[in-house]
Order: sequence, then structure tokens, then C-alpha cells
Amino acid sequence: MDIIKSGIIGLTIGDALGVPVEFSSRQKRENDPVVGMRAYGTHNQPKGTWSDDSSMTFALMDSLKDGVDYFDIMDRFAAWVWEDLYTATGKRFDIGRNVYEALKRYKNQHQNPITCGGNKEHDNGNGSLMRILPAVFYTMQEKYGTIQEKITLIHQISSLTHAHRRSLMGCGIYAQVVWKLIEEKDSDLLKAVQAGITEAFRYYEKEPEFIGTVKLYEKIRDAEELKNRPKKEISGSGYVIDTLEAALWSLLTTSSYRECVLAAVNLGEDTDTVGAVAGSLAGIWYGMEQIPKEWIEEIARKEWIFDLCEKFEKSLNLEGNQK
Ligand SMILES: [Mg+2]
Repeated sequence: MDIIKSGIIGLTIGDALGVPVEFSSRQKRENDPVVGMRAYGTHNQPKGTWSDDSSMTFALMDSLKDGVDYFDIMDRFAAWVWEDLYTATGKRFDIGRNVYEALKRYKNQHQNPITCGGNKEHDNGNGSLMRILPAVFYTMQEKYGTIQEKITLIHQISSLTHAHRRSLMGCGIYAQVVWKLIEEKDSDLLKAVQAGITEAFRYYEKEPEFIGTVKLYEKIRDAEELKNRPKKEISGSGYVIDTLEAALWSLLTTSSYRECVLAAVNLGEDTDTVGAVAGSLAGIWYGMEQIPKEWIEEIARKEWIFDLCEKFEKSLNLEGNQK
């Protein structure tokens, strides 16, 4: 099941490539494109340092290996925030606003985890999309027999920090794309991505409370059209819809893992998260063999990450799945 490793390592590298240039403009990236791992920059971190995107992904993976327990997931997120666990260097250096507010509700106000995530329109940062991948793998187990069961778990796990429908649907579309990239690995990329998007829209269009949200995602419904969209119409912002669109665009317009993550990071702005989301998809599609070895070598705590991937993978019952 190389898929887990290639998705997680793909995500981590995309994050680490983006960290030194987070918040930089498109213009800046065009004048000085990222071509490999850099040191220092925005957060003054050593080369190969990954950020909150990877930390929360690892915390979620570590929790899900023992089954679904929303309190345990939140405890591990809190341990990352306040005790610096799951960090690259032993010190946390970034956090999104929605995540911080949700964790304060959990830790300080003792709110039930599933009510902690913000559910207002302005709570739609990409902070649950960036760390949902372990949940997507988790729902590939046979016990999640129906699409309804799978999507419900994805929504619940997003809701811990991001409960607005726009964030839920972003995670749901991403999940469908991941499942199809795995299922249709012998098909072509455009077809596999389109299959995922189509399934997701089919699901959400049947849910009356998502009607308004479906309209907002309309611009990513047609994968071919998205593939042909000019770069100037793609935003690297931290808004969940923009991030999903930018990650899919980076995947569709390139033909290798390396090209995809560099295209994502060089969009500028929320470079680490767009890099992480695009990197996870490209890692899954192209596989470990295609992820540049020098980048794998450079990521912080790589042995620990591989070990966690193995433990997570062993805990899942993925018999009967294609790979
Ligand atoms: Mg980050």
C-alpha cells in the first residue's frame, strides 16, 4: 500500500517547499521561482521544515490508527499547539485562525469536539482540507460500505476545526478525487480527476442543504475546462475553494510530481498549503518512485514519518482494495 506513503510524503514535501516562501506574491515567484528545497525565508526555518499542514496530518493519522475518537484527535491537535508535539523541529511556528479558535473552544471552554469548528462564512480557510487525507484513507476500509458513510466521516473530521458547508464540501470533493486517483490508476489523469469530481457533485446535488454550496464549486466541475484555465485566473489564497481549485489545476496542467508541486508553490500566497494539497494528489497519482529522492532526503524527521505511515497502514483493514 504505497499509496499511503506516497500521499503523505507527497503532502509533506509540498508543504516544506512552500514554507520558506509563504505569503509571497505571484510576481515574486515568477521572478524567483522555487525549484527545490530552500532554507529560512518567511518563517526562518531550516531546509526541509514542514508546517501545520503536515503536523495536523500526522496528528490525525496517529489518532486514527486506533480508530475514530474525536476527543483523541482534538487532544493530539492540542498537543501540537501547546506542547509542540508533531512538529518538524520541536517548535511550532504557525497556525491558522480557524484551527486556533476551534482548539481554544475545546481546551479552554471544554466544548464537545464536534461542535468546536467554526461554521460561519468567514470560517472557510483551507485548514481542514490540508489535513483530511488520513481520514480519506481511513474510509477506504470495507466497514465504510456506502458513500454516505464515507462522506459523513470526512465531514465530521473536517468539522472539528471547519464546520461550514463550504469546507465540508471541499473535503468531500478532495476525498472523491483521491479515491478515484487510486481506483483508476491505470486510466488517464484527466479522466480519473473528472470521475472524482463528477461523483462528488452527484452526491452533493442530492443533499438539499448543499445546493448553494454546489453553485460556488461550479468552477471546478469540468476538469478539462479547469485544465485549460489560464494561470492568472487561479488564486493561491488560503480560501478553501481557491486552494482546491489551485491544487487540481496544478495537478492537471503538469505531468510529473515535481512539476505539479512546483507549479502549486509558485502560484504564491498560501504556498505551503496549496503545495501540500497538490503534493498529496500528485504523490498518490505518480507514486513513490516519482517523488524526487533528494527531496525525500531533505524533509525533517523523515524516518519518523515513514514509521508513522507504516503503523497507520498496518492498523487499517484495506484487504480487497486495489492496492
Ligand atoms: Mg502551513
